[in-house]
Amino acid sequence: MTRFQIDGERMLADLGKLRTFGACGNGVKRRAFTDADIASRKWLATRMTEAGLTVHIDPVGNVFGMPGEATNCILVGSHSDTQPEGGWLDGALGVIVGLEVARAAREAGGPPIACVSFQDEEGRFSTLTGSRVWTGALSLEDADQLVDADGACFAQERQKAAQIGPVANVPPEWFRAFLELHIEQGPVLDTTGERIGVVSDIVGIAGERMSFIGEQNHAGTTPMRLRKDAFQALVRFTDALNTKLRTIVGPATVWTIGHVVVHPNAASVVPGRVDFSVQWRDPSDRLLQDMRTVIHQTAKETADTNGIEWQHSNYNAIPATRCDPTIVSVLERAARTAAPNAWRPMTSGALHDAANVSKLMPMGMLFVPSINGISHNFDEDTAIADLVLGAQTFAQAVNLLVN
Ligand SMILES: [Zn+2]
Repeated sequence: MTRFQIDGERMLADLGKLRTFGACGNGVKRRAFTDADIASRKWLATRMTEAGLTVHIDPVGNVFGMPGEATNCILVGSHSDTQPEGGWLDGALGVIVGLEVARAAREAGGPPIACVSFQDEEGRFSTLTGSRVWTGALSLEDADQLVDADGACFAQERQKAAQIGPVANVPPEWFRAFLELHIEQGPVLDTTGERIGVVSDIVGIAGERMSFIGEQNHAGTTPMRLRKDAFQALVRFTDALNTKLRTIVGPATVWTIGHVVVHPNAASVVPGRVDFSVQWRDPSDRLLQDMRTVIHQTAKETADTNGIEWQHSNYNAIPATRCDPTIVSVLERAARTAAPNAWRPMTSGALHDAANVSKLMPMGMLFVPSINGISHNFDEDTAIADLVLGAQTFAQAVNLLVN
């Protein structure tokens, strides 16, 4: 049964308005707690009030819109802060569709739906800061120790939450489930021409810092056969790793050597040391462990054959997250009806607030296509028809869930 229906035009108008806060070309600059972010959160709070929702601001600036008496409602939303150079839809789409779903449900006389914009999902201070504090994964005391790349303190910056409205805790017990609509931020749907992705799980992320230590020497006088070149070792390691990992990985596995520091990084010196990051992602925590074994073996073999030393730091991992099976089946039902033969179940390769919230309540996510798979970029975009279809499918899933 459909108890409420969203207004696509009104949703697009609000999405267009949110885009004006921090607008920069086709994209936006709306980092957490900047003037543009605070102004956008004030505007969002006003729109919630106009929709008959009660606004609650928590101590880290997460903005909630509650439908009257706050018990046992479904929470929908995402984040409205952006990367330093962000797209107009990353997070914003889920926040505005969340507002529209809560508003439409309220106009229809129920069911009670609450909406949220989490703060600092994009990691000005740390990964998913707002939802981590709200779900208790990060204590407020620990969060208050965080400092951004320019030396600004979280403890000080979060005081700006009071500019949006009175600040108080928002107990997670008020909610019984969380749903998030998001752009895919990757090329899968755009490539297949499909219009909806139902997220089955969110990848786990593992990572380490490693170093090869060889021998720094003169680039003119040291014969090739006597060199202990740390950079050449890294190249051989990367090559060997690509070959070996391909034999054990799944369809969603990715691995990246993303940060490399060569020492002394000079044209006439054989590199004596190279420090680098290795990060790998997959929805299976077991495979993440197996990959770790292969990465270690390969690094050790490379060091031995090249007569150099290998070091590595502590292993870090964020476990993979499974979406709630009941919510997944409801999202699939809605997707089958809205986009027959044009939807797919898929893994999210990006982290989302939903991963944190899933520790406290059943969670589900829906994706819409990203044109050319581009995100975290001013050029990020999605076809208007896909935004509306995604919003309608999402709203229909909420309808199915409350029936
Ligand atoms: Zn996002």
